[in-house]
Amino acid sequence: MFFIRNLGLPFILIFAGLVAMMGLLVLSQQGGSLAGWAQAARAIFPWMIVLPASGALWVALRLLQIWQWRRGTLNGGCPRCTGVMAGDRCRMCGHRQ
Ligand SMILES: [Zn+2]
Repeated sequence: MFFIRNLGLPFILIFAGLVAMMGLLVLSQQGGSLAGWAQAARAIFPWMIVLPASGALWVALRLLQIWQWRRGTLNGGCPRCTGVMAGDRCRMCGHRQ
């Protein structure tokens, strides 16, 4: 549960980005009546790398937070464990404010 809470969203972003790139790759191979779409897909494709790339960066930042939290040097606002508050709930220990 801890890792899903902390790394779930970034991994969803990476996964969605990869699926989108896969779809564009398939679309870019189409000809005939879909040739126009194929050209658009080829144009968009390089930009789609932004999704998984930012997802990976997000994972790296979250891992850095977890590392700081384990060392006890994180100051995220949770009164119980110094974890980061997401809304009214601590992302590290699940403590509610
Ligand atoms: Zn906490």
